Amino acid sequence: EPKLQLLRENVRTFPDFPKPGIQFRDICPILKSPPALTAAIDLFEERVRTMHPQVDLIVGLDARGFLFGPLLAQRLGIGFVPVRKKGKLPGTTVSTAYDLEYGRAELEIQEDAVAPAQKIIVIDDLLATGGTLCAACELLLRLQAQVLECLVLVELKDLRGAERLKPHAVFSLLQY
Ligand code: 5GP
Repeated sequence: EPKLQLLRENVRTFPDFPKPGIQFRDICPILKSPPALTAAIDLFEERVRTMHPQVDLIVGLDARGFLFGPLLAQRLGIGFVPVRKKGKLPGTTVSTAYDLEYGRAELEIQEDAVAPAQKIIVIDDLLATGGTLCAACELLLRLQAQVLECLVLVELKDLRGAERLKPHAVFSLLQY
């Protein structure tokens, strides 16, 4: 698939970032390359149109989910909602703490951002241990939304994030 090839050529690997032993996959070159960014959104759009045409909203994760989520939502003609790190969103929020590949954090969503029974696609740049996407799905379940699937550009297979995310499904464009 030439679009996947183009994406793969635009992911750089940095050893020992942000900590020793971590192989950081940098997706910034995808953003810098118009054909690569178009390819990424094309592939996500195709996935959602074929598998989840009933989707109501795209929910993107702080911060790199914000780079792709609104582009996908606009393609699909639906809205985008951010899940943010704690303390950034005004109004009533629901929040949950979670473990990262490195460190610990808390995620938050505005309580009125998603209505009960709305059908959601969640998007982030990368799946590592799955802690971040799990936390986001938990927030959405608390708002009684239905998570159709999680989308990521990159899945780090060895960390078994997809297992942790179950029963939620994940679709990744590139696997390492
Ligand atoms: P997880 O919660 O699945 O362990 O980690 C995924 C989260 O950490 C994502 O929000 C992602 O942006 C960030 N992350 C962890 N490792 C990497 C990496 O190698 N590259 C990038 N781009 N993000 C990473």
